[in-house]
Amino acid sequence: MSTPVKVAVTGAAGQIGYSLLFRLASGALLGPDTPIELRLLEITPALKALEGVVMELDDCAFPTLAGVEIGDDATKVFDGVNLALLVGARPRGPGMERGDLLEANGGIFAPQGKALNEVAAEDIRVTVTGNPANTNALIAMSNAPDIPQSRFSALTRLDHNRAISQLAAKLGVPVTEITKMTIWGNHSATQYPDLFHAEVSGRNAAEAVGDQDWLANTFIPTVAKRGAAIIEARGSSSAASAASATIDHARTWLQGTPEGDWVSMSVVSDGSYGVAEGLISSFPVTVANGEWSIVQGLDIDDFSRGKIDASVAELAEEREAVKELGLI
Ligand code: NDP
Repeated sequence: MSTPVKVAVTGAAGQIGYSLLFRLASGALLGPDTPIELRLLEITPALKALEGVVMELDDCAFPTLAGVEIGDDATKVFDGVNLALLVGARPRGPGMERGDLLEANGGIFAPQGKALNEVAAEDIRVTVTGNPANTNALIAMSNAPDIPQSRFSALTRLDHNRAISQLAAKLGVPVTEITKMTIWGNHSATQYPDLFHAEVSGRNAAEAVGDQDWLANTFIPTVAKRGAAIIEARGSSSAASAASATIDHARTWLQGTPEGDWVSMSVVSDGSYGVAEGLISSFPVTVANGEWSIVQGLDIDDFSRGKIDASVAELAEEREAVKELGLI
């Protein structure tokens, strides 16, 4: 077996962590021939619970799990890591304003960005799952000046997967028939799942659906509000699907996209499609040799333009807010 890949997970004792760690350890990310070393970060009060999770990891005797380290000090836990999955974040509490939420998360993601900058491996790749994911990624990236900006990303793969699943169900086809799905903008209720460029068995998805009312008034809100629907049904937020999407995202980043398809990733904008430079926004991307590229040349009609602009405006407001707070 080769040298273990060091993967950091923050918020490791949380709900998403509980689904994520066992899949990482079992080879779902790197395959059966690559050993993985887990570096698990938690806040001090959650370390005891995390010790229990590590006992369960031990009890699985995963052949690919080469080691586990836990701690509450980011500079120790992130030392030499190749991949950082930043899941732990401060959830919005009762009566909490957006500014408070951004400030609380700045207190988490600014120091984590600095720690990664200081101690992570040369090939570090960072994925933020913890919400508000796009702006948390912006904060981490801005505090890690020595890491290329292209190594930071935020998760919109769960929205992407939800969109594929909804479309496949509507058309009665397997999910494998859906390609070129795109989520644009922010991982929030303003996100725009785009069927105008998606394909079903090679045919344009919007045409295959042939029902603009379903697209605008059922599909888009169902995808954008799926998280709330799961909370309503399950009594707590989606965790296994968020963990699964985090693995999908990281695996695609490491292994690449198949010919003729793309995925949605929130990455730093170079100004493509009128998205202000420097924002971490979701785009259609292809990946080859561990590097993502934004798919170029897609026609954006007025309907899509309005939806993309609205979500990007929210990202720009969040960036202004964290700038004012001195977090970036
Ligand atoms: P979860 O594991 O359920 O969620 C973690 C984060 O992922 C939340 O910000 C959540 O956002 C976000 N998220 C992104 N996509 C989704 C999705 N589709 N569904 C649900 N959540 C999503 O939270 P827990 O409270 O169970 O666990 C968080 C853990 O993080 C705790 O153990 C806490 O101690 C830890 N933590 C660790 C830190 C650190 O390592 N330094 C810092 C802060 C917290 P949303 O809130 O919007 O649902």
